[in-house]
Formats: sequence, C-alpha cells, structure tokens
Amino acid sequence: MGSSMRKPFAITLDPGSSLANHTGSWRTMRPEYVDRLPPCNNACPAGENIQGWLYHAASGDYESAWRMLTQDNPMPAVMGRVCYHPCESSCNRASLDSAVGIHSVERFLGDEALRRGWKFRKPAERSGKRVLVVGAGPSGLSAAYHLARLGHEVVIHEAGPVAGGMMRFGIPKYRLPRDVLEAEIARIVELGIELKLNTKVSSILDTMKSGRFDAAFLAVGAHIAKRAYIPAGSAAKILDAVSVLRSMDGQEQPLLGRRVVVYGGGNTAIDVARTAKRLGATESIIVYRRTREKMPAHDFEVEEALQEGVLIKWLSTIKQAGDSQITVEKMKLDTNGFPQPTGELETLAADSVVLALGQDVDLSLLEGVPGLEVQDGVAKVGTDMMTGHAGIFAGGDMVPAERTVTVGIGHGKKAARNIDAWLRGARYTPAPKHEPATFERLNTWYYSDAPKTVLPVLDIIRRQSTFDEVVSGLDESNALYEARRCFSCGNCFECDNCYGVCPDNAVIKLGPGKRFEFNYDYCKGCGICVSECPCGAIRMVPEAI
Ligand SMILES: Cc1cc2nc3c(=O)[nH]c(=O)nc-3n(C[C@H](O)[C@H](O)[C@H](O)COP(=O)(O)OP(=O)(O)OC[C@H]3O[C@@H](n4cnc5c(N)ncnc54)[C@H](O)[C@@H]3O)c2cc1C
Ligand code: SF4
Ligand code: SF4
Ligand code: SF4
Repeated sequence: MGSSMRKPFAITLDPGSSLANHTGSWRTMRPEYVDRLPPCNNACPAGENIQGWLYHAASGDYESAWRMLTQDNPMPAVMGRVCYHPCESSCNRASLDSAVGIHSVERFLGDEALRRGWKFRKPAERSGKRVLVVGAGPSGLSAAYHLARLGHEVVIHEAGPVAGGMMRFGIPKYRLPRDVLEAEIARIVELGIELKLNTKVSSILDTMKSGRFDAAFLAVGAHIAKRAYIPAGSAAKILDAVSVLRSMDGQEQPLLGRRVVVYGGGNTAIDVARTAKRLGATESIIVYRRTREKMPAHDFEVEEALQEGVLIKWLSTIKQAGDSQITVEKMKLDTNGFPQPTGELETLAADSVVLALGQDVDLSLLEGVPGLEVQDGVAKVGTDMMTGHAGIFAGGDMVPAERTVTVGIGHGKKAARNIDAWLRGARYTPAPKHEPATFERLNTWYYSDAPKTVLPVLDIIRRQSTFDEVVSGLDESNALYEARRCFSCGNCFECDNCYGVCPDNAVIKLGPGKRFEFNYDYCKGCGICVSECPCGAIRMVPEAI
C-alpha cells in the first residue's frame, strides 16, 4: 500500500523497483498530470471546491477543510442543513453505489467550526472603498463576506429587526435551528461589517449618495405573497404562507385552528403544512392542482410531510372558502399536462386557508434609477451581476434565477468579485473551467463498495409535536467515513499508484501534499500510469515534435 494513502476504500499498488532506463526518445505520446472539474463542484451553485475540502476532511484535518470550503461559502452549517444539494445529484459515486453525503460532511464541518470557535481571517489591506449591501439574507451576507475579505468597507442595510432573510423568516426551526444561523451570521459580521438593522432602503440612489458609497449590491429577496382570487365569505380566514412562517419567529404563534388547508405545491406549502401540524392542527391538508410527479416541492420534503401526517389532495383547486369549510373542485390533466376543471365539487372542513402560491419582489427602491431594467417582476443583471445602472449590482431572489439559499450565496460571491474588479476599473475574468471529470475516466475497480451513511432522524411523535431539529448530523467517525467515500474525481489524491506501477521509475514523488511529476528522460510513453490512476488525474498528450 502507498504510504500517503488516505482512502481506505481505494486499493493502491506498491512502488516499482525496476531499474530506470534513459529511453524517452521513442515516445509518440507522453503522460501529463491534470486537474479535472468534478461534477459535484460544477453543480454546486456556490462553486465549492468539494473534492478539495473532502480531501482534507478525509485526512482528519477538519480546519483546513473548513477553511477551503469557506473560501466560497461562509455558511456551511446552514448550507449543510438547507441546501437541496445538487452536488450529490451529480456525484460520480452515485453510478457505483450511492452519492457521497456531501451535505452531511459540510454540516459536520460547519458545526465543528462553531464548536471550536474557528474565525475568518481579516484582510491585511483595506481598499478605502465603501460598498452598500441592501438586505441581510443569504445573498447579501455572502456578498458582504466576500467584499470584506477583499478589503472593502461594507455596510449592510437590513429592513428587518434581525439578519437572515428567508433563512430566518421562512425556513422553519425544525430544519434550521436559530442558534446555528445566528452563530454563522455573527462570524461574518465580526469581519468588521457594519450591520444596520431596521433600516429599510426606499431609494437606492439617495442612500448611496448620502452614505458616500462607491458601489451597491442589492439582495432584497421576494417577500410579497402572490394571491389567488377565491370567492370567500366574510368569516373565512385566509392567510398567506410567508406571513404565517414569519410570525413563527415572534412571541405570538399564528392562530390557524384545528383544520388547516394549505393551497400550493412548492416547498413553502410543505413547510407551512408541517408547521401547522406542530402547532396542534389535527388536520393539515395541502390542496394542489396537479399530481405528485408535477409538484415543485422536493420529493424528500413531501415524504417527510406525509410521514408526519400531512395529507395531500392532488388534482384539486379551491373554488370557494367559507367560515368553517371550503369547496374544492377536482381537476384532470389534459394532454399537455395542464390541469383542467371537471365540475366535480367536494367540501372540506377548514378553520383556515393558507395560500402558498409564491412571492413577488418589492422593487420600489429602484424607482427612477436610470438604465435599470425590470422584466417579469425581477431585476435584470448581466453575467457580472451588474444591473443596467453602473455600480449597482443585484442577486438572489430578486434576479431571474432559481430561488434557493445556495444560488443566493453563489450570486453574492460572484457579485463581490465583479464589484471588486469594477472598483479598480477592471473586469473580473473567472479562471477557465477545467475539462470535466466524468465517470468514464475513473478506474472504479480501485474503489470498494462503501454504502452511504444514513443520518439519524427524530422520532415521529416529537416531529409532530415539537420544533426540534428533524435530521441530526454525523459524528466524527461517520464524517470521516463519508469523506473517504469520495473518489477525488479528476484530482490526484496521492495514492502512489502511478509511482508504483511505472516500469521505468519515471514518476518523481514530490512529498506529501505536493503530488508528483514525470521525469520525461525516463518515460517511454507506455501509458500504464494513465490506465492505473483511479481518479483520471493523468492524460496522454501527443509528444511535442
Ligand atoms: C418557506 C421557505 C422555505 C425555504 N426553504 C429553502 C430551503 O430549504 N433551501 C433553500 O435553498 N432555499 C429555501 N427557500 C428559498 C430561500 O430562502 C431564498 O431563495 C433565499 O433566502 C433568497 O435569498 P436572498 O438573500 O435573495 O433574499 P432573502 O432571504 O429574502 O433576504 C432579503 C433580505 O432583504 C431585506 N430587505 C427587503 N427589502 C429591503 C429594503 N428595501 N431595504 C433593506 N432591506 C430589505 C429583507 O428584510 C431580507 O432580510 C425557502 C423559501 C421559503 C419562503
Ligand atoms: S452548498 Fe449545496 S450544492 Fe454546494 S456543496 Fe454544499 S450541499 Fe452541495
Ligand atoms: S466522488 Fe467526490 S469528487 Fe467525485 S463527484 Fe462525488 S464528491 Fe465529487
Ligand atoms: S496521479 Fe493518480 S495514480 Fe498517481 S498518485 Fe495521483 S491519484 Fe494516484
């Protein structure tokens, strides 16, 4: 076994002992070490170097793992809990047994950092530039973090009484405990960011002028609940999901009654129905006009809700609401998959109806800004995240994109890099992407089966009656096991195979963490290192003539 081998699930070869022959000249192809882009990294909206931080975690160096992770994403404890982890949907390991539990290792690292009090390092130099960030949701916080690390003076104006945006006022506590959220926000603010709470920006140009800001990043989210026209009696209790979830943060819990009907099919509908159950509703029913396959909510969230006793009425719309009952019409899907009314009616007992039909953006702070364009209710931005008005950038839910915490975090990072360049009169050019590390490039023979760790889940009785966190985290041994399941796709993990297999001792070992290089005076170009590299980190290229 190779001495620096860190992966118990990969088989490695012993270093060769053949005598070196100085025979390089008859090669037509030569091997070359490469770094390829793993699909997990490509899929992460925050652009995390997942393979890189898993490599550190797999060797038990959690602080280096956390430091590498937080170069891209300042909130791993939050992200490991609420991100829908598209990284795992793309993970190459899923083609062998099951995807690496990336989000659970991320959560472990985030929790470990909070437990051990690891802090971000402050920048050595200050730029002297002032940047305004509007909104302290994930996107604004991420931009503020990256801008502060780049040496800029950052002031956040937040309309609400606490920071966090929808992480605080949308996502329920049973999925994101507030002490975790608060601790990760506090660590960002400690970088020297000024956070002004209860400070709503009503005109971006006025605030920039009076505060002498050189640039601004807007991330005001989408908070205006969409309504549907439902004929309703005067006593009918119709609420909107975002207000219900927001009031969960205050002293007084919302009064929903014992029979709650939630109208909608997204994740917010699921969250509010599960919240209603925890508040004591005997019946919490989601009315949705299409089928389960067409529901925008994630399947695992639907499953968790069903386990907790939430009921779902598929292919149904609300026709009318009264004081203690509603009328529902059955729908059927047409050939294009659109729901069409059938005329078939049914009544359901309901003390309240909660509308979860999505949110619009309040763009009033942008009124009168020259050059700024709004399309379909969201602010248009370029690939650099700048709006049509020079120096005003925007991201998160208020721009056209998927509405998730991680997309918001990614926008904040991207905008910060572009703002930094813009302030210096330059253009930010991202490094070119490496070629993809596909499953076909792996030598999976070297990796043994290692099933994914299953996260412990709270018992169903406590799930139905309390706001305790539903899914628990990994302990250290599980986190280490899970990190070691990573194939390190397309990036050398120093298994020593190439060094061991080369018949001509043409591989030079540079020492721990420094990888290898080829001694082309000895390499015959046989390519055996390429075929025996487990992770596809070597390629053959034509010999330069
Ligand atoms: C119920 C619910 C559950 C969700 N669950 C998940 C989940 O599990 N995973 C996930 O990835 N995503 C989830 N999302 C989506 C996610 O929360 C959002 O996509 C994300 O929070 C958007 O981030 P943002 O920074 O753009 O805006 P927000 O989080 O909305 O933050 C915007 C901030 O700006 C402030 N603000 C608004 N106007 C002004 C103004 N004029 N001046 C100053 N401040 C202002 C607001 O008070 C707020 O704090 C959920 C959303 C909801 C509603
Ligand atoms: S932020 Fe989400 S997509 Fe990115 S690594 Fe974490 S879980 Fe995966
Ligand atoms: S095996 Fe590792 S590097 Fe490869 S896609 Fe999965 S997490 Fe990423
Ligand atoms: S290049 Fe491949 S074979 Fe060589 S040490 Fe790295 S991972 Fe192992």
